[in-house]
Amino acid sequence: MRGEMTGARFSGAVVRLDDVGHGFGTGQWLFRGLGATFERGFVTGVAGPSGSGKSTLLSLIARWEKPREGTVVVARGTTTRWVFQNPFGVPRRTTLDHVTLAFLAHGSRRTAADAEAFALLDEFGLADRADAPFSALSGGEAQRLMLARAVAGSPDLILVDEPTAQLDRANAATVNSVLASLAARGSAVVVASHDAETLAACAAVVDLSSYSEAAHAAP
Ligand code: ADP
Ligand code: MG
Repeated sequence: MRGEMTGARFSGAVVRLDDVGHGFGTGQWLFRGLGATFERGFVTGVAGPSGSGKSTLLSLIARWEKPREGTVVVARGTTTRWVFQNPFGVPRRTTLDHVTLAFLAHGSRRTAADAEAFALLDEFGLADRADAPFSALSGGEAQRLMLARAVAGSPDLILVDEPTAQLDRANAATVNSVLASLAARGSAVVVASHDAETLAACAAVVDLSSYSEAAHAAP
């Protein structure tokens, strides 16, 4: 999966980080000197051990947080969707409904929305679960639904935080296998994870270990 370059069909950086460093309050630096560009059609992983600042970096990219130094440049009008490690849905609503609603919210008509939603579920390996209520989905199915729903809104940017952290290996594998589909419609995608298989499914990886204070101080 590594190196899947769907991005060649799209153009443009959605987010650019220049020499970004951050830490909280007067605390130590989590990372310094970080430069990266997130482009449409590409899935970029953010790696690093627990506590290294992966979620913090996503917050900086979303501009929930201002960096202590450096700049975060986000293209004008950028729309953002988040996917977190705990899938959250409406227990009695069907899988299809969750995605159809996202298309309706985006302006599609009902019949078109159902068709678009079904096609997207198929892409995320959920076609045979379309009529199942959310409460009946396995952890991997529920997380793939969260990813499909994020894509349905056609955001410019999708931020995914530890999508497989709550899953066993088998369920995680089904989520990792659809990560490339997240960018196939032109979103820039950033996935924070310490799961080697999740990172292997990304086209590129920013490893925060390389930007830690220790790494920064090294000659
Ligand atoms: P990761 O996602 O890689 O596990 P985080 O970005 O969640 O790491 O956290 C990095 C460090 O910053 C941790 O030590 C965490 O306790 C601290 N931290 C995170 N958010 C805040 C905050 N809002 N205020 C103060 N400290 C924070
Ligand atoms: Mg985190």
